[in-house]
Amino acid sequence: MAFCKVCACGEKIVFERRLGFPDNCPSCQRKLVDFLTYNEDDPRVAELLKEHEKSNGSDETNDNEVSLVSESNSDAKRYTLRLDNGDEIIIPEEGCIIGRTEVGAEILAEYGSVSRQHLRVTPRRNIGVIVEDISKYGTLVDGQRIIKNSPVRVANGTKITLCNVEMVLTQKGSEE
Ligand SMILES: [Zn+2]
Repeated sequence: MAFCKVCACGEKIVFERRLGFPDNCPSCQRKLVDFLTYNEDDPRVAELLKEHEKSNGSDETNDNEVSLVSESNSDAKRYTLRLDNGDEIIIPEEGCIIGRTEVGAEILAEYGSVSRQHLRVTPRRNIGVIVEDISKYGTLVDGQRIIKNSPVRVANGTKITLCNVEMVLTQKGSEE
């Protein structure tokens, strides 16, 4: 007769002696002492495993739904950096580096004070955009110089100045 436990993750652990179970679940590392010990042929074991199959299945469905929703949200909330003259640098969803030889090159090429790689820009769902100065001459956020290589969170409407080139972070598809 063997014994077994069913971990909260759905893993079934079988062992020969009643107290001879491993300390941790091999699948998720939970402490196995927290779970009941059954005889391996106990019908409740099969029940438990069946429940796990069911709940795992529905979890996956939920994950898919969530990711579909957030993808369509992000489409509606594209960020750009808008210059005074109306030029716009579109920030890709996955983030980018802005600079004279990077994203925005066609607009920034004429500004010698902007570094080839000036600012790392990373949109984050629901919390705005993370910017990180990686330039030679610096970046201002709403008129304040930010510390090089130190990411800062900014929001729609923030003024971002690459050395002396002013631009405004603008969220496409927002109500403002
Ligand atoms: Zn487990």
